[in-house]
Amino acid sequence: MNVTDCLFCRIVAGEIPATVVYETDAVLAFRDIRPKAPVHVLVITKQHFDDVLALASDPAAASALLAAVAEVARAEGVVEPGFRTIFNTGPDSGMEVPHVHAHVLAGRPLGALAG
Ligand code: AMP
Repeated sequence: MNVTDCLFCRIVAGEIPATVVYETDAVLAFRDIRPKAPVHVLVITKQHFDDVLALASDPAAASALLAAVAEVARAEGVVEPGFRTIFNTGPDSGMEVPHVHAHVLAGRPLGALAG
């Protein structure tokens, strides 16, 4: 994909508005436009990676993303009672936006992931 066509690259570039909750030189975190829980934040790398498989090839970027997930959880006040972090990858996951993002979900009991 041409990164200029990437929705989340366009959010990074400021071309599409987002409710930003955390930002560093390497990452951006913003509220999901269709929240599935009282807290639903997307944490992305500013650099374009298609998915978590691509991100794994860049340990510094992967580390920055994970650190941002932790900062968002602290800032949202959900370290207790807890939160869920999801990386969708590929069509069976339902992934809609091919720019790596961690979903941080919290604010209610989230139930079992499967079962
Ligand atoms: P995924 O299905 O893992 O690719 O998740 C993509 C997420 O991006 C979905 O939860 C969408 O609701 C969310 N989303 C799509 N467009 C926007 C946007 N403009 N601002 C914030 N979140 C968005």
